[in-house]
Amino acid sequence: MTKMQFKAESKRLLEMMINSIYTHHEVFLRELISNASDAIDKIYYKALTDDSLTFNKDSYYIKVVPDKETRTLKIIDTGIGMTKEELENNLGTIAKSGSLAFKTENEAKDGYDIIGQFGVGFYAAFMVADVVTVITKALGSEEAYKWESEGADGYTIEPVEKDSVGTEIILKIKENTEDEKYDEYLDEYRLKSIIKKYSDFIRYPIKMDITSSRPKEGSDNEFEDYTEEQVINSMVPIWRKNKNELTGEDYENFYAEKRYGFDKPIKHIHTSVDGAVRYNAILFIPEKAPFDYYSKEFEKGLELYSNGVLIMEKCADLLPDYFGFVKGLVDSEDLSLNISREMLQHDRQLKIIAKNINKKIKSELQSLLKNDREKYENFFDSFGRQLKYGVYSDFGTHKDVLQDLLLFYSSKEKKLVTLDEYVARMPEDQKYIYYASGDSVERIDKMPQTELVAEKGYEILYFTDEIDEFAIKMLMTYKEKEFKSVSSGDLGIEAEENQEDKAAEQTENKELFSYMKEILAGKVKDVRISKRLKSHPVCLSTDGEVTIEMEKILSMMPG
Ligand code: ADP
Ligand code: MG
Repeated sequence: MTKMQFKAESKRLLEMMINSIYTHHEVFLRELISNASDAIDKIYYKALTDDSLTFNKDSYYIKVVPDKETRTLKIIDTGIGMTKEELENNLGTIAKSGSLAFKTENEAKDGYDIIGQFGVGFYAAFMVADVVTVITKALGSEEAYKWESEGADGYTIEPVEKDSVGTEIILKIKENTEDEKYDEYLDEYRLKSIIKKYSDFIRYPIKMDITSSRPKEGSDNEFEDYTEEQVINSMVPIWRKNKNELTGEDYENFYAEKRYGFDKPIKHIHTSVDGAVRYNAILFIPEKAPFDYYSKEFEKGLELYSNGVLIMEKCADLLPDYFGFVKGLVDSEDLSLNISREMLQHDRQLKIIAKNINKKIKSELQSLLKNDREKYENFFDSFGRQLKYGVYSDFGTHKDVLQDLLLFYSSKEKKLVTLDEYVARMPEDQKYIYYASGDSVERIDKMPQTELVAEKGYEILYFTDEIDEFAIKMLMTYKEKEFKSVSSGDLGIEAEENQEDKAAEQTENKELFSYMKEILAGKVKDVRISKRLKSHPVCLSTDGEVTIEMEKILSMMPG
């Protein structure tokens, strides 16, 4: 039997592929700049082992040149260039990555800084260009070549004149359509902002000639245009810098520059991990919740970079919902650049990073709680509710992370306390962690149900947030102590009272109680004598798991 080869219509395949990989057309520039940066890296790596080569950083750069008149956009680099074979192999074959091959061949020489590996990034150029021309001269080669293509129909290669080693990519930008204004890819300022957004931390300078206007010499109201070459990218990202070189102000400026929020962060976390997965991260705990934080509009996530190149602005998979308030970014050289959102979710590396980050945030919050209580309370004021939602939404996995970060108002301390502090103070005969739910501290203070517990000298936690009681129900216990509402029927205190006495009184006043029950029919289940009241004549209590406060909330819920 002969095996048949699949045939695919390559033009359609190319279109399909490009459209499914990229959500935004503007990323074509990121792809071409990454390739240029890879090409320079390759010279750099070669120079490490080849004595005949020197690498003088100043002679390596990337330049972006738009020209509105010819409708072309050039991306020029001084990288390693391509031979005729490489042009055929790397640009003539979709999903063939010369960079991946380079990395595999050069494993021992630490080729891992190179970004490319999927062999599809280059084709992103066809999202914005009708014709793509590549003029290139390889290192150590005498000849230069021109590769040209109008998409997957095919390509031509011919010899061409080029003095210096490197590559020039020329895009013939598409005409505007109703849906898309391709003109913007010829606009200096638009290009500048795309470079800033995606390629700010590329290690080599990305240059552009920028035209600005300035007052004419000797004149106050006349202006003239002038053009100067500018380096657009900042090259060294703050997270790659040594922590010791940076001040608190540097982090605050970065927070503001990145528009993470208008507040000042309560805390920054800067980590560099060099384990199974290498990454740098800068994380911020904001002071104030953004106005839409507790709404559906809020989108959590961290910026995700692959080796200095932005892949995703909000990578939600890096943060659990309960830490959704954390801002910042992760940069890992172990992530691949061209991966789409869907593929990223299954990325093993990403999962490891997310897990580490989660642990880190937890331990930083714990140390804040321990070392700067005032700041922590400030934080808890903004995001405590989120932590409680976290406990409520999935007790099994989140409990350990979150229970020690919770604070509740204490009847005894008259301030917020942790569960740990509560349990540490419990007298030996106290069986439960008592709590009382209500709208406010003042209201709970006046609740008759709190009297017996307070009289006994036991501390009561005040639950003033609707979510509190639901969250605690999920926890069930803390350090093996059960939670008990002060309005529950059995407080675990009455046991020491004389049961016979109670029974006697109940029979003595039998008629009174059944009369009361009749009047309150449908409103209460029973009317009983109570030992828990001190200064109030009457109080309500519940038998089951659901307390009065929870009933109130449940009855307000739709459905
Ligand atoms: P990837 O970057 O994932 O390898 P691309 O489609 O972006 O895939 O690029 C394909 C290949 O073409 C690269 O691996 C590289 O070998 C080659 N290439 C692309 N652009 C350049 C360039 N500017 N200089 C040298 N080689 C390049
Ligand atoms: Mg690439």
